[in-house]
Amino acid sequence: MRRLSLKVKLTIVYTVFMILVTCTALGILFSLSSREVLTSTQNQLETRVQESVEDVETEDGKVEVDADFYSVENGIYLAVYEKDGYFLYGKVPYGFDEQPEFSDGEIRRIREKNKEWYVYDLSYRPEQGKTVYIRGITSVTDAEESFRITLRFSMIILPLLAGVEAFIGYRFTRRTLLPVKKITETVQNIRTDADLSRRVELTKGREHGRDEIYYLAHTFDQMLGQLEDVFQREKQFTSDVSHELRTPVSVILAQCEACLSERDLPERQKEPIRLIERKAQEMAGMISNLLLLSRADEGRQKLNKECLNISELTQIIAEEQQMLAEEKNVNIYTDIAPDIFVKVDESFYIRLLVNLISNAVTYSKEKGTVKISLKRKGEEIVGMVEDDGIGIAQKDLPHIWERFYRVDTSRTDSSHSGLGLSMVKWIAEAHGGRIEAESEPAKGSRFIFYLPI
Ligand code: ADP
Repeated sequence: MRRLSLKVKLTIVYTVFMILVTCTALGILFSLSSREVLTSTQNQLETRVQESVEDVETEDGKVEVDADFYSVENGIYLAVYEKDGYFLYGKVPYGFDEQPEFSDGEIRRIREKNKEWYVYDLSYRPEQGKTVYIRGITSVTDAEESFRITLRFSMIILPLLAGVEAFIGYRFTRRTLLPVKKITETVQNIRTDADLSRRVELTKGREHGRDEIYYLAHTFDQMLGQLEDVFQREKQFTSDVSHELRTPVSVILAQCEACLSERDLPERQKEPIRLIERKAQEMAGMISNLLLLSRADEGRQKLNKECLNISELTQIIAEEQQMLAEEKNVNIYTDIAPDIFVKVDESFYIRLLVNLISNAVTYSKEKGTVKISLKRKGEEIVGMVEDDGIGIAQKDLPHIWERFYRVDTSRTDSSHSGLGLSMVKWIAEAHGGRIEAESEPAKGSRFIFYLPI
């Protein structure tokens, strides 16, 4: 079954609850009022029969009744019978054809066809006369008819009421959950745009409507503010440190170069200087990556795009990398479609490809192969760097784009800082493209980048 939203669930619960409450209230009301109506009908019948005794007299030993005896008050009919059941005077309602046995002073409910009657008999002996029975009859069905009409009316009104309750419930729930929707939207926007400057801002202009959800949103905004501050400080720190390190590293490199150019310096002393130079170069590379990323974060990193024959450029980079790959006995193959022209920033495109190829070489096995391909597909160019190396586990795959993330630090030396792929991703996206990675441990990895033409 499709999952229902909280809004719909709450509306259903609210509506069902309200219908139950309404039905219970109506049920109690009807049962009380029906009992009340029937009790009052019985009382009226009893009183009327007892009072009618005054209308029954004897004249010359013969029983007679007044004209009042014939009048039907509140639906009560009166009749006088002899003890053996012989009808003397009075009126019997239409439809009451039975002649039940007399039962003195007792109200009975008698059902006849589809009508019900209350019958009350009272034995009476007038002066100098024989005992007679005065019988009062009134219709139960007529008495019940009034609230039956109300009941039928309620049956019609109930679905209408349920509809109104559902509508009110839905509006109410929607209004109540609106802030939750806004919080969710804000969080989603922060996730997609990676923009921590967004706020829920529910409390804006709602000085009097503050409830628990508004306080939650407010707390959330405060937390976002703190997070933004922390991230801002972290970025600033990275940027400042990179700047500060750039000059000493350049000085170290310059000094190493100067020392190494000294002809008189013995080879024994040159060796450690070469090592220092190599490490300083790695450091310079790392600083350059960090600076690029922090400039990108601040939106200050500009691209210098120009229309290039990207096929040629890719081929040149592949050949250059082949020399480095040979150290590891790795072979680089290319499958590059000719003369694809695209507007890219040349230095950034080189950085993207060099990073992907050097990773493929680093993480490939001895005598492994790396394949570089480039083709045009619709309005995009699709580039691919594939290797048959160690691969990446599925759980690590989503994280490889994160800064300083390295799957297994023991496999590589300090030159691998875990910044390369973050930079590659930024370059692809800054060109309006994207990059994806597919991999299977022990089988190899494939990095595919797409750039718009
Ligand atoms: P690093 O400088 O450590 O190579 P990257 O950002 O380039 O940093 O890569 C992040 C991590 O992704 C690496 O540490 C490595 O574990 C993994 N990785 C990248 N490319 C490959 C590849 N071709 N094969 C296997 N693992 C790779």
